[in-house]
Amino acid sequence: MTAEKVTYWNEQLECMPRARLEQHQLSTLRDQLGYIRERSPFYRRKLDAAGIQPDGVRTLNDVRQIPFTEKEELRLSQAESPPWGDFGCITPDEAVRVFQTSGTTGRPVRVMLSRKDWFGTFYEQFMHFRCGYGLTEDDVLFVPFNYGLYIAWWGFQTAMEKAGLMIIPGGGLSSKDRLRAMLDWDATAVCGTPSYLLYLAETARKSRINLPGSLIRKVIAAGEPGASIPSTKKAIESQWGAECFDDIGSTEISNFGYECVMHQGTHVIEGMFLAEVVDPETLEPLPDGRIGELVLTNLCCKSMPLVRYRTHDLARFDRSVCVCGRTYLRLDGGVLGRSDDMFHFAGVNIFPAQIQKLLHEIVEFSQEYQLVVPRLGSGKHLRIRVEPARDDISESALQTARDYLVEVVKYRLTVTPEVEVCDIGGLPRVEGKAKRVIREE
Ligand SMILES: [Zn+2]
Repeated sequence: MTAEKVTYWNEQLECMPRARLEQHQLSTLRDQLGYIRERSPFYRRKLDAAGIQPDGVRTLNDVRQIPFTEKEELRLSQAESPPWGDFGCITPDEAVRVFQTSGTTGRPVRVMLSRKDWFGTFYEQFMHFRCGYGLTEDDVLFVPFNYGLYIAWWGFQTAMEKAGLMIIPGGGLSSKDRLRAMLDWDATAVCGTPSYLLYLAETARKSRINLPGSLIRKVIAAGEPGASIPSTKKAIESQWGAECFDDIGSTEISNFGYECVMHQGTHVIEGMFLAEVVDPETLEPLPDGRIGELVLTNLCCKSMPLVRYRTHDLARFDRSVCVCGRTYLRLDGGVLGRSDDMFHFAGVNIFPAQIQKLLHEIVEFSQEYQLVVPRLGSGKHLRIRVEPARDDISESALQTARDYLVEVVKYRLTVTPEVEVCDIGGLPRVEGKAKRVIREE
């Protein structure tokens, strides 16, 4: 925790008592649904088919009657009526910016943004982020980013320069030149994906650049869950000698999650988004503290607002008031994984993220793991493959750690696993998303 002063962007909204905040969300949602129904043929069809009248949405229970939106529907809509599909609420002549999703699977979704959304709504979102991170107009932000069709840091940069920070655009440079530029230009903050930030730190070490001795004091990490994984965050913070913050958003739904200086989870801008957690199988709402799929509704974007959008990201809500004073809910541990990775075993739904979280508590094991799910009816146990954290851990300590993992999984997940301790480096390392679940045929 830090002694840093907490600053708010919109204190009244960010610290609003929950009952009033929910009233605010519901009345904004009604207006937004009315707007969307009028302008978006896609949503008019969906709402009409479900018999939803915007004025009829008066409680959070009513929200649950509204159909979900899947990314695949957006893809289909754009394939059927290229290039924009029929889900958006503006015409191309009203747009000032276009982007496309960077997803590795399937056709990208194109997004256009009006002047109001690009310079107004996004600004508002990123000012929540800026105040959360404790960035001020005296900060100098280095943006190591290749400016193109992917949204990544475009919006963040645009908002930060409007807020008075100095921007150093780091496109078109090698990683080494980026590091030199950061030092030469006295950057105090930098943004990037967790893996790229770690790569930059490694490049600095190899090039004898003293990163912890630089003026960089804040590191903003987005695009992967890394910044909310304790071990990754710790590595980023020690290698940069700076405070690391989680930042979450996507091209389709825009920018909704930021960590505050108290580092107690990732806040959701509830004044601008309605957030829900549902069981990925039954799609029923889950109580706070349970891991489920994050579903988001844009309460403010006017260009391509999405309603009950299934992010397929796993999260767990904490609605207690944060030590920073904000009532905005927090994703406990940030994004915990993908709901597509969920599997059934012995009558239980299991998310790799649950096991990953238990692993974080055992210092004898590294963060690498794999789950081998036996065929149904084979009588075999779920197998957890792990690696020792270092090569100087004794056999008996590993045995104790293994027994502990079996016990804790049995207790928390009600499934008795087998734990296989592999050699260090024995589990596959992959660029990007690791394959954690192996299903036996
Ligand atoms: Zn907070």
